Amino acid sequence: MKVEGEISPLFGFSRETLDQVIDESIIKLTEWLKTGLINDSCFPSVAFGCSCALAELNGELPKQTNYSKALLYTFDDLKKLILNVNKIKNKKIVKIKINNNKILKTSNLINLLFETIPKLNLRIDANRSLTFNEANTFINNINVQYRGYIDFIEEPCKTYEESIQFAKNTGINIALDESIREVNFKLKSDFGVTTIIIKPTLIGSLSYCRDLIKKIHLLGLNAVISSSFESSFGLTQLSRIAYWLTPNTIPGLDTIMYNDSQLIRVWPGCFLPVKQLNDLKIIWKS
Ligand SMILES: [Mg+2]
Repeated sequence: MKVEGEISPLFGFSRETLDQVIDESIIKLTEWLKTGLINDSCFPSVAFGCSCALAELNGELPKQTNYSKALLYTFDDLKKLILNVNKIKNKKIVKIKINNNKILKTSNLINLLFETIPKLNLRIDANRSLTFNEANTFINNINVQYRGYIDFIEEPCKTYEESIQFAKNTGINIALDESIREVNFKLKSDFGVTTIIIKPTLIGSLSYCRDLIKKIHLLGLNAVISSSFESSFGLTQLSRIAYWLTPNTIPGLDTIMYNDSQLIRVWPGCFLPVKQLNDLKIIWKS
């Protein structure tokens, strides 16, 4: 019997360490062997990995997906992207990571990108890196006629309040990512907030994510399932979850290039070598 789930805490983002995750996983697997159930771990990566494995086992997680993804680029890739526009001509959505370095150069490149690929939709992720003034400088340097093609900027400013003020001043939509993982976060409608980024490995179990997505949709907001640098195995599960729970939204899953190999399942279009289970180290077995 195969029960497969990926538990991959992300260094610097997950609050749980790898050692904690290994200990907790053994506790949870022992619990499952005894009772046939796994109660959600308080460590999000463990809760998500275990719940996905059980959902695979009991057929709850549908197998279908179309592997769609917003193409992910950083500032350094952007020039290459403009030289290779054919790569993205038929794609609807590109996501660009920005930071407070080279704000004007980045916005100039974004203008060039819109000029080269008309009607491209852009998601921009600032990871809370910009001051309020920097965020305004950035957006003011993007030609007015292109701004409507920016679907959202993820967490533009250092604080939530500044990001909301930025949305009020500029009319640019905001997506929340880091904010939703804060202890005191309460999901609500707020001016300019249109989208919530869901990174299950950093958030929790499949049922928790599913409930959260329902609440997001009830508020009239979009939920975007996104990866946290999981392996190709985890990405294929995330892709199926996205197809199941957010079928009308393109997920943020374009992170396979940050791996040096694939794991068990192949990510479409990726030519990295594929490791199988017997290539991995066994930590525990029943
Ligand atoms: Mg983000």
